[in-house]
Amino acid sequence: MNFHDTEHEASYRQKAINFLEQHAERKVIGQPGISSCLSPQALLKAAKEWQALKADHDFACISWSKEWGGPGGSAIESVIFAQEEQQFDIPEGIFQVSLGVCMPSIIKLGSEELKNRFVKPALRGEEIWCQLFSEPAAGSDLAGIRTRAESTSSGWVVNGQKVWTSNAHLSDFGLLLTRTDPTVVKHSGLTMFWVDMQTPGIEVRPINQISGQSGFNEVYFTDVKIPDSQRISDVGGGWKAALGTLATERLAIGGAKGADCRELVALASQLPCDTGTVLKDPQFRQKLADWYVNSEGINLTRMRALTTLSRGGTPGPEMSIAKLVMAEQLQQLCDYAMDLQAEFGIINSPDISEQAAVFQKGWLKAPGSRIAGGTDEILMNVIAERVLGMPGEIRVDKNRPFNELPVGI
Ligand SMILES: Cc1cc2nc3c(=O)[nH]c(=O)nc-3n(C[C@H](O)[C@H](O)[C@H](O)COP(=O)(O)OP(=O)(O)OC[C@H]3O[C@@H](n4cnc5c(N)ncnc54)[C@H](O)[C@@H]3O)c2cc1C
Repeated sequence: MNFHDTEHEASYRQKAINFLEQHAERKVIGQPGISSCLSPQALLKAAKEWQALKADHDFACISWSKEWGGPGGSAIESVIFAQEEQQFDIPEGIFQVSLGVCMPSIIKLGSEELKNRFVKPALRGEEIWCQLFSEPAAGSDLAGIRTRAESTSSGWVVNGQKVWTSNAHLSDFGLLLTRTDPTVVKHSGLTMFWVDMQTPGIEVRPINQISGQSGFNEVYFTDVKIPDSQRISDVGGGWKAALGTLATERLAIGGAKGADCRELVALASQLPCDTGTVLKDPQFRQKLADWYVNSEGINLTRMRALTTLSRGGTPGPEMSIAKLVMAEQLQQLCDYAMDLQAEFGIINSPDISEQAAVFQKGWLKAPGSRIAGGTDEILMNVIAERVLGMPGEIRVDKNRPFNELPVGI
């Protein structure tokens, strides 16, 4: 493992820092960031402007080729920029699915015409994409989706429901996974399309979250007509296409961002207790040490992945460990920090809560982080089967046509 930048990497890091210092403010512990202060409309506008600025300076989608509007940089340069960018207070949370999940699939699977039309506007943040995969009865078992696309003389007609579609209410287009043949085994009857979210018959219903935000949606399809030219995969080849999308999704989601040990130390050094401040309390120090050790373990795992990237390789399934450990830790750490604040722990307003409500926001976000991009249990299966080489799960639906699988009771 290599802990240090190469000469080229160090110089690229400095270039990134220079850009960021010129155009953004560094995050300050205990201060609310702009993403939590702006209204949804203002955040969208700010995020689009930031994305366009990055594109103008060759810092958007760094590893995409020049052909598609990127600067043609390396994977390690992308990671270096992301590491530095997260130290700055910039508008977050708008393009993760569009650029981290949907566009890599369009670039990999789309026709030249499709790529020419869509990739550059998405890279500049002018158009946003969402991922229309999960359904009420299909998430971890994604191949069990039921939204039907039926072939007609003029294309396809889609009926069904998607759920948890991040940013569908902001999106111009979507990547849609459908069932086109229920008479074959579940993985073989799927087909992927792209859709314009304004197509008649598509209805987006935002879901109100406990945090007060509405980042996800239910999306209903009622007799939605799609021409065959919008088909991205072969008919029946949707599962292979979706696997590629899911692989990029895991990389895009990475670890759960939010409150960490630094913020906890800052909080504890302000809170009084019998031993002076909570920072001096032995029980607190024991917990802090455990979380710090976990965080360092994850940093070293990430460092190992970076070394692989730096040498031109691709990190393996062991990166699942980072999300698994960090999402759970985010939940536990925030829960504990809110307990330390006693009755003030329930105040979720950045203006008056300790550390600008970073723990309250992390606590409300953590359960979603433990589900999105693979639940804890699914990631444990990935680690067991693909990292530790343990036997796979028993699949009771193997070799059975989808329409013969038992449903309900
Ligand atoms: C923040 C967030 C953003 C999301 N954004 C999107 C999006 O933009 N587009 C999209 O398509 N989807 C999105 N999703 C949906 C997400 O992909 C699914 O929620 C996730 O895959 C889990 O599926 P599920 O909700 O159907 O739960 P289920 O799969 O029904 O799981 C229920 C429980 O059963 C457990 N379980 C399931 N299978 C197994 C197994 N084989 N072994 C052991 N335990 C198991 C799970 O771990 C979980 O605890 C998002 C979800 C969240 C939380």
